[in-house]
Amino acid sequence: MEKDLKTAEQNIPEEKKLTSKCPLCKKPTDIKYRPFCSDRCKKVDLHRWIQGVYKVETDEEVDSVKSEDHEG
Ligand SMILES: [Zn+2]
Repeated sequence: MEKDLKTAEQNIPEEKKLTSKCPLCKKPTDIKYRPFCSDRCKKVDLHRWIQGVYKVETDEEVDSVKSEDHEG
């Protein structure tokens, strides 16, 4: 008996493999601004990143420890 299995090849467009989507606006990325689509998105992401970095500073409230001075 001969096997008549047909291999289902996945037709994946090369474009889809080569170009990914911009994480910001979901547009096809430009090779010049990978992984973004444009210089604008690149800067926007960079700006976000920088802001995030500066926001790292802890927002914890300083616990005001009630220290009663006992003299004597
Ligand atoms: Zn974009």
